[in-house]
Amino acid sequence: MSESSLRVVWVYPDLLSTYGDQGNALVVERRAMQRRVPVSRVDVRSDQRIPTSGDIYLIGGGEDRPQRLAAERLRRDGGLSRAVANGAIVFSVCAGYQILGHEFVNDLGRPEAGLGLLDVVSVRGEGERCVGDVLADIDPRLNLPPLTGFENHQGVTHLGPTARPFARLRIGKGNGTGDGTEGAFNDTVFGTYMHGPVMARNPQIADLLIKLALDVNALPPVDDQWFEALRAERIAAATQPA
Ligand code: GLN
Repeated sequence: MSESSLRVVWVYPDLLSTYGDQGNALVVERRAMQRRVPVSRVDVRSDQRIPTSGDIYLIGGGEDRPQRLAAERLRRDGGLSRAVANGAIVFSVCAGYQILGHEFVNDLGRPEAGLGLLDVVSVRGEGERCVGDVLADIDPRLNLPPLTGFENHQGVTHLGPTARPFARLRIGKGNGTGDGTEGAFNDTVFGTYMHGPVMARNPQIADLLIKLALDVNALPPVDDQWFEALRAERIAAATQPA
């Protein structure tokens, strides 16, 4: 962590914020403030350089064309990859998740190089678009409650040997491969298909990122009754027979 405060970097709000994923930045800020951790947030537009001094980088989802533009700029910029090489934490959603992989299929139907920060490759799904509620169990080593969220994507993501599934699905399509996996992670880099925004539904994910950034095992508890009521409601809705 930088000396004065926890630095949160919200990457390309002008390109990758279509689905309200900016809420994730708000939740990380709020959860840090609740623990009296000094926090600052930088929103980096796509015509600006990515700072390499951030602690937590957040990237949202986006439509196909902005996704290609974001990937081009992030490759050219190089800052995010340098930050990760220095130990920064990245949490990405949907289009952002695909960009962190080795490759995805762009709006022109062509393979587009990603940043290779996650060992995943995304292709265009041949079936129906994956849209709907998701319920999944996050990798036990991350010690988080069940994940609830909403997905909306055409891409299908295949995990390579060094990417671990972020979660195992109970409901939903997740990576879309039919293998029951949702998202991926590797050390400090995370990807998920969950919008919502995902941290407003699952604030313990924000806590995980803060703990990693501060290099601590626990944070002071906060009142999560409201979030747990929402989780219970979403689990009931997702598991209700149609
Ligand atoms: N364009 C990508 C896809 O459909 C990502 C969509 C999104 O971010 N929701 O797979």
